[in-house]
Amino acid sequence: MTQLKTKSIFWHRRDLRITDNKGLYYALENSDVVQPIFIFDSTILQQLPSDDKRVNFIYQAVQKLKTAYLDLESDLLVYFGNPVEIIPQIASELDVQKIIFNNDYEPKAILRDQTLEAILKQRKIDFKGCKDHVIFEKNELLKPNNSPYTIFTPYSKKWKEKLKDEDLKNYNIESYSFKLMNKNNNNELISIEKIGFRNSINLDSITPKIEDLNIENYHLDRDYPSKNATSRLSVHLRFGTISIRQLVRKAKTQNDVFLNELIWREFYQMILFHFPDSVHKSFKKNYENIPWKNNEVQFKLWCEGKTGYPIVDAGMRELNETGFMHNRVRMIVASFLIKHLLIDWRWGETYFAEKLLDYEQASNVGGWQWAASSGCDAVPYFRIFNPISQQVKFDGKLEYIQKWIPEYGTEKYPKPIVDHKEAREKVLNLYKLVLSN
Ligand SMILES: Cc1cc2nc3c(=O)[nH]c(=O)nc-3n(C[C@H](O)[C@H](O)[C@H](O)COP(=O)(O)OP(=O)(O)OC[C@H]3O[C@@H](n4cnc5c(N)ncnc54)[C@H](O)[C@@H]3O)c2cc1C
Repeated sequence: MTQLKTKSIFWHRRDLRITDNKGLYYALENSDVVQPIFIFDSTILQQLPSDDKRVNFIYQAVQKLKTAYLDLESDLLVYFGNPVEIIPQIASELDVQKIIFNNDYEPKAILRDQTLEAILKQRKIDFKGCKDHVIFEKNELLKPNNSPYTIFTPYSKKWKEKLKDEDLKNYNIESYSFKLMNKNNNNELISIEKIGFRNSINLDSITPKIEDLNIENYHLDRDYPSKNATSRLSVHLRFGTISIRQLVRKAKTQNDVFLNELIWREFYQMILFHFPDSVHKSFKKNYENIPWKNNEVQFKLWCEGKTGYPIVDAGMRELNETGFMHNRVRMIVASFLIKHLLIDWRWGETYFAEKLLDYEQASNVGGWQWAASSGCDAVPYFRIFNPISQQVKFDGKLEYIQKWIPEYGTEKYPKPIVDHKEAREKVLNLYKLVLSN
């Protein structure tokens, strides 16, 4: 009797690469034939403007991925629509027994996956998630009492202790690539216009090579926004165009401070998984009682980079123009919005979510709640970044400021919209009052 072949779909989501891709490797190892697919999720895309930089990034990454599969005599099938409807349809068209993918820890993604799992279960199709986006996921790294860590330092210590060579395995598919479904000549990639978008960035210009990445002086230079001293890999980690294992293998031997930043990323992924409510609610409950001023005119000036505080304005203009902002400046602008203007951190989080190319819900909510002092391991409420001394310390030669504010030093540059000292005192008194109740 001939044995039936196991056919699977491998569904690329936030892992737009073939190299060192755990889920893809697992799919090939456990199937006879694998068809890779990608879906432009219409439920997400409908909410975005037509020049959204992230869709551009994804589109170009998908183009590259398709080419990489064609080079292996296979192909990436690309769809546009709601995955909850499309996946079951393709599964029956291709008559597959398994759908394999890499896990996503955002609450909406988890809900979508649970819905799909239930639908597919009725049809006796396996729906299997793998760990690829992080080194340790879900309940793999808990406190001795089996509850999740909420403080970074003990978490990172345990993370390092637990790390073994096998956690950093390179999932090279070379010996399995013959199992990829053969290409069919009629699979043109849907055009970016057809999905409602237009080109606005060039992926090649923002794609550093890990081999060329120099992190030797990272710990010395990373806080200076005018120096090109950070990796700029956040967007690639977000969409999985690089592998976190590949990056940790490098960081582990080259720079411990850099490794710690990668662990912060995992810490926030873990927090989001265990505390999905933190997307909308302060992690520390008593911070829900802050009476925000939420002045819309001041919020608009902050968004446009017109607060009269140069380091804040330079950061916001960098964000608006490029979709990126340096980490030190992210902390300063967030602190300014919350603790100088007394505007709800959720307004800032939402604005960053619209603009950041590297927008990652876990890190963004984590970063904003950190700045608001309401997060799990946040800056204390009385620590208020002084935008003037931060500028002197981290952009003393005004290089960053002059790059983003051409009218700096002229009459055209606005006067400060609030007085630093006054704003600081006001917020300190308010926080003290609310938090002591
Ligand atoms: C208010 C606020 C919002 C933020 N929003 C995001 C976001 O939406 N997406 C995002 O990826 N990062 C976010 N960060 C974290 C950090 O600013 C960026 O990861 C970093 O600036 C990206 O630049 P890089 O790749 O050159 O970082 P590098 O300094 O080269 O760091 C290497 C990698 O480590 C990770 N990392 C570094 N710092 C942090 C951090 N503080 N928290 C979590 N991960 C970190 C990132 O994946 C980064 O690519 C936010 C920080 C703040 C204060």
